[in-house]
Amino acid sequence: MTNSNRPETPTQAWQAMLEGNKRFVTDKPAHLRQDFGLRTQLAKEQKPFAALFGCADSRLSAEIIFDVGLGDLFVVRNAGQVIAETILGSLEYAVEVLGVPLILVLGHDECGAIRTTMNSAEGHDLPAGEFIQNLVDRISPTVLAAKANGLHEIDEITDLHVRDTINELIARSSLIAQRIESGKLAVVGANYKLTLGEIQEIVTIGNTK
Ligand SMILES: [Zn+2]
Repeated sequence: MTNSNRPETPTQAWQAMLEGNKRFVTDKPAHLRQDFGLRTQLAKEQKPFAALFGCADSRLSAEIIFDVGLGDLFVVRNAGQVIAETILGSLEYAVEVLGVPLILVLGHDECGAIRTTMNSAEGHDLPAGEFIQNLVDRISPTVLAAKANGLHEIDEITDLHVRDTINELIARSSLIAQRIESGKLAVVGANYKLTLGEIQEIVTIGNTK
């Protein structure tokens, strides 16, 4: 995309994400904005049109699955896309300083972090590692609530986890809540299907229509 059609609003940003993902799904990537000259231009200033907070899974390569280029996405990822203060700070920076009109929270099917948490809830031992428990602790409330409501499929739990993550994001960051309220920002939650390469919308807070 050129500077003239750079997305400025939540609606335009979400549209650009959907169109890029469609090019990826249909195996017609445009590989825009990956050229040599752009590096010099971007070195002075970045102006991403969206922030993406997603799972660190190696198959969730943000710029590839949305067919975008350098300087397009502000990407924040960790295993199971779990909220932490550093994540909140990064997303507030994207909104306040970089002015992104869209935050996409992206989970995916067969997420290892969610599977590990489900296994832990069933009494299985966690993999070794001092801090894996920290990830699991942040997904456990969703897994336990799902269980209490008779939901046991990983897809159902992934869906709930994306919703809970967005609720927590908005509840804890008044900056983000205010920007949604004023119509300058939307937060979309979606699930990435590994085989299809397709993102499926789960929930939208704010207006992207
Ligand atoms: Zn994952």
